[in-house]
Amino acid sequence: MRDMADITFRVWGARGSIFTGGTDKTHFGGDTTCFSVSGGGGLTIIDAGSGLRALGHAMGAGEIGPFTEIDLLLTHLHFDHICGLPFFEPIFCNTMTLRIWSAAFNRDEAFRETLARVMSPPIFPNFRHWDGVRLCTAQPGIALPLAMGGMATPFSLNHPDGAFGWRIDTGGKSVTIASDHETGDAEIDDQIIAAAKHTDLLVCDATYTDAEIDSRRGWGHSTWQQGLALGAEAQAQHMLMTHHDPHRIDDDVMQMEREARAQNAAVTFARSGWTHIL
Ligand SMILES: [Zn+2]
Ligand SMILES: [Zn+2]
Repeated sequence: MRDMADITFRVWGARGSIFTGGTDKTHFGGDTTCFSVSGGGGLTIIDAGSGLRALGHAMGAGEIGPFTEIDLLLTHLHFDHICGLPFFEPIFCNTMTLRIWSAAFNRDEAFRETLARVMSPPIFPNFRHWDGVRLCTAQPGIALPLAMGGMATPFSLNHPDGAFGWRIDTGGKSVTIASDHETGDAEIDDQIIAAAKHTDLLVCDATYTDAEIDSRRGWGHSTWQQGLALGAEAQAQHMLMTHHDPHRIDDDVMQMEREARAQNAAVTFARSGWTHIL
């Protein structure tokens, strides 16, 4: 039976780079990166890809929440990780404070200017709903307190323009997000393994396969085989492979999942709607 103190992880978007559609991609879904961690009456969101829209809709419909304050942890500001933000319904209601955290800026103002640049004409109609939004800067290795209780600690990933993973420790459980990341920089790989040590759920970048990676070096992503090795070194309880290539059809992701599970049963390939009790 579920305990009230259960910490639940949910996938709202698992697609990498750009959202996609088609009847051959419905199982894993087409929305870009967005995850949630909930428990004890609180909620923390990781990344604001197009999957954030569905999460906001569920909150608006009363399926989740209500909350007076929630945290949104950004890995980085590439478009596939922020494009859901202006479509996040709870921002328009002014009944909740949304704290958005990024480790990519030294000043809150620089963070605001960058986000505002995207949400301004002619790229997007002027975004006028900043009242309930607080933009906050974080620093790698420095834990910050979450509104839901517990702590979140950012750490560096290897990605063009920089990106930061997050380890969330709450209710005696942990989730570690390590996408978007290109494996191969030994120093950064070791830092990720240390940050993810014995984590209950490790979310890995699995954009490519080992057969594809040679033509994709420098693009900032990893193969599922590299993700599996990372999880083994970190001794993660469970691994979630994400950031699926937008061209990848369901049958191919399922085949990758079968191959990965032949090596380690505690692996899942992320799909929108997948939930996991930690
Ligand atoms: Zn991405
Ligand atoms: Zn990126």
